[in-house]
Amino acid sequence: MNNTNSAEEIMDQFTRELFEELFGPADEKISEIPKIPEKLALEVDALFTSTKDTERTGPAIDLFSRLKKIKKELNISPDAFGISKETLTLFAFKHQHLDEHGVTVGGRVNRALPIVEQANERVADYLKNKDTEAPSGIELWDRIQENVRRIKSILNIDDDEWSSYSGQLRHCIDSVEKLSNIIDLPSQIIEELTRATKSYRMRLTPYYASLIQPDRTNDPVLLQSVPTGEMVDNIGIEMPPVAADHSPARLIDQFYPRVLTIKATNMCAMYCTHCLRIAHIGKKDRIYSDNAYEEALNYIRNNTHIRDVLITGGDAFVLPNRMIKNILKALDDIDHIKMKRLGTRIPVTTPWRVDSELLEILEESNDKKPVRVVTQINTAQEITPISKNAFKRISKSVSAVLNQAVLLKGINDTKVKMWKLCETIQESYVRPYYIFNCSYRNPQFAHFRVPIEKGRDIVESMYGNISGDAIPRYIATAGGKIPLHRSNVVGHEGSDIVMKKPWSGEKVRYPDADPDEYANKNFSFAKN
Ligand SMILES: *Cc1c(COP(=O)(O)O)cnc(C)c1O
Ligand code: SF4
Repeated sequence: MNNTNSAEEIMDQFTRELFEELFGPADEKISEIPKIPEKLALEVDALFTSTKDTERTGPAIDLFSRLKKIKKELNISPDAFGISKETLTLFAFKHQHLDEHGVTVGGRVNRALPIVEQANERVADYLKNKDTEAPSGIELWDRIQENVRRIKSILNIDDDEWSSYSGQLRHCIDSVEKLSNIIDLPSQIIEELTRATKSYRMRLTPYYASLIQPDRTNDPVLLQSVPTGEMVDNIGIEMPPVAADHSPARLIDQFYPRVLTIKATNMCAMYCTHCLRIAHIGKKDRIYSDNAYEEALNYIRNNTHIRDVLITGGDAFVLPNRMIKNILKALDDIDHIKMKRLGTRIPVTTPWRVDSELLEILEESNDKKPVRVVTQINTAQEITPISKNAFKRISKSVSAVLNQAVLLKGINDTKVKMWKLCETIQESYVRPYYIFNCSYRNPQFAHFRVPIEKGRDIVESMYGNISGDAIPRYIATAGGKIPLHRSNVVGHEGSDIVMKKPWSGEKVRYPDADPDEYANKNFSFAKN
């Protein structure tokens, strides 16, 4: 048959390999050719028939995959089913012809499908454990609602107060006594918390407290919000706060030429046990004077290098709407300011703060120059239907919602926990932006620190396994943000770069651009 010969000749390498497997010599291990069970014969016949009569590619893939498996496991070649090499060659030819990209049967059966199978293995452990090791607040919602009912009745909070920012603040849990009313705490823990809260302020909103799973030891939400004895015991030599050597003007921190922060308030709706700004935040709430804001804005007005201003705190959403509006307006009126950011954890701790007036203010300013909201979510458990909805609404009003997580021992320091966090927030309209290695500057939270290398393993494990835009950058803060990612360039071979695939360790050669051509050759348009 001339026809099949020519088809065979143009077969690609993958398909030739597949045919060799199907019709090649028997595997020596299997000496006896078993009789074909009737059921198998019927199955193959059905696959054959649907491949013959179809204009789809799927049946051919099913047929070839099945024949390959039968040959490998039972050592029965297609001839034994009355399927000739010529017929299969025609099927292969038809498949390639039907496929929009000319993908061959061999390419699909012998390469693409095994690659997908291998890829699936890399996430098997994650898929198995993600909902038990790192349940999201959405998955825990029924249990959280039980907590809500309990907390509401113990603290005597009505529905309206529960679902309002002011109600949440009015009923915030700021004493060990109040905490122990809503969560069962063993007496030695109560003693320890009493000691810790003498030095560290505790405040969590009843909503944030409802996310705590009381039957779990070391609940990650509890760890983030309730000061413990370690914080007191860890205090050694206090480092000077960051502002001491990085504040060129009142309220301003600046490391970089084009971006700076205004610490517009020192208040937060809740106080985090791992707060980088613990020296400014946790002592007492302060209202800053108009003079302070004016001096900060004047510094920005007078420094035309600056283009991006990050309004932070404390928590920017603690500021009243009127003030947020005024600051954004003042920044929008400065020609050289092109971008604004607001740093807030409030959508996670008190989502009802995100009211329609605030959203209008954000949207109005975003229409002039992009506004981004930068938040801090450290566990999937902090995402509930309520906070997700708040983020959804914010995301419609601003140009991006970004997350800066802190890598914290026991809270998010496993692959499963961190992947789950990144996927959950991405599904909640929030883009993972940074993961900070927990700073050395504050001895209070030394017990939360995770070695740089461990963080690298976690971040690196995401490449090739979760969406690229759900992978944050791994950062150390040390007078500015310093990237901590691992290099995947592992060597050189001749002029090629040798790289390592983060997900499999497989080495790949990558021909580099010719440096001489890059430096010295001009485009042909420039020839005269
Ligand atoms: C974090 C931070 C910034 C912003 O850094 P990006 O890398 O642009 O997000 C700017 N100034 C100070 C003082 C900061 O702490
Ligand atoms: S919300 Fe931010 S600034 Fe406020 S206590 Fe938590 S980490 Fe610190």
